[in-house]
Amino acid sequence: MEGVDEVDTENLSGVVQPMATIYDAEAVEALRKRAAVQPQTLKRFRNVLFKQAASLEEALAVLPVEQQAGFREQLQAEVLVLHETRVSEIDGAEKLIFRTQDNHLIETVILKPQSGRTAVCISSQVGCACYCSFCATGLMGFSRNLTVAEILDQVRWANRRIKLEGRSVRNVVFMGMGEPLLNQAAVFEAVERLIDPAWFNLSGAHVTVSTVGIAPGMRAFAERLPSCRLALSLHSARQSVRERLIPQARNFPLSVLREALEEAAERGTVMIEYLLLKNVTDQPEDLAALVDFVGDLRVHVNLIPFNSFTGSNLEGASEASCTDFSDKLKKRGLSVTLRRSLGADIMAACGQLVQHKLKIDKNIV
Ligand code: SF4
Repeated sequence: MEGVDEVDTENLSGVVQPMATIYDAEAVEALRKRAAVQPQTLKRFRNVLFKQAASLEEALAVLPVEQQAGFREQLQAEVLVLHETRVSEIDGAEKLIFRTQDNHLIETVILKPQSGRTAVCISSQVGCACYCSFCATGLMGFSRNLTVAEILDQVRWANRRIKLEGRSVRNVVFMGMGEPLLNQAAVFEAVERLIDPAWFNLSGAHVTVSTVGIAPGMRAFAERLPSCRLALSLHSARQSVRERLIPQARNFPLSVLREALEEAAERGTVMIEYLLLKNVTDQPEDLAALVDFVGDLRVHVNLIPFNSFTGSNLEGASEASCTDFSDKLKKRGLSVTLRRSLGADIMAACGQLVQHKLKIDKNIV
């Protein structure tokens, strides 16, 4: 693997906690008032930080000179510490592993398709409590939810990293570690900042939250963030198969999901993600069940090839079988995309790299 770039984290324990992070809207506003900085000036400060992805020092330069030291002393820009990066030899996709301040590792992936529409796949939790059988994060167990600042810092880090390539983050997808709708409060607030013109200013159509099907969260998302996209990781429209792949399916059976999806589709854009697993989800009965499940729902189906990983006994469907499945769905009138797997060599499976890293740290491998 090329492009491994270790970052010194020796002095982590010595990090002094300033009063607030740049993501703490209330604390920054209080600081602004204390320093008698004009609201317009704070707006420019945020503009430089979040839209131009500049450094804190560059952002401080827009403040009155006499206020810069106070802001510098009381504000912290980076919340996460970059621990390691991996660059795909295939297509330049980049995996960033971050260390949180309480020493957890999380992953973020920057995808760089040739279209130039850079996307960043971010994490919402440390580990995950859902234990899906096709996901390496599911093997890690759950540690804790990420904070709003930790979620947003992944996007700012990604933007700063790709700025020199003349790129900026266009799409944000919550498809990294964790089930976003089990960290609803922080994820919803982070999404609001991502689409807020005064913060990251992304289009709602370019922010996607992906869930394995937490029905109440799906409804809440569609109600609060109708301009954003909701992706349901369905992966099977057969209840017994789905339960084997996604234990949460027992709590939210297909009939419940279908209703939640229908409600969400009335308010905004919804998509179905479907993993093509050899002899598990790619058979004629799987296709028939999927067509039946979608019915007349206004929904786009993304077919995803599967990258196997150590510890999984699942196998991806062959390229020919994926194409055949896609063609047959199209013939049945569904709107379908067969996704190309970007960064297959580094993506392998979400959570795999962190899991491997943790084992090395504990001398297990
Ligand atoms: S697929 Fe998502 S919800 Fe399932 S274990 Fe992995 S991170 Fe958790």
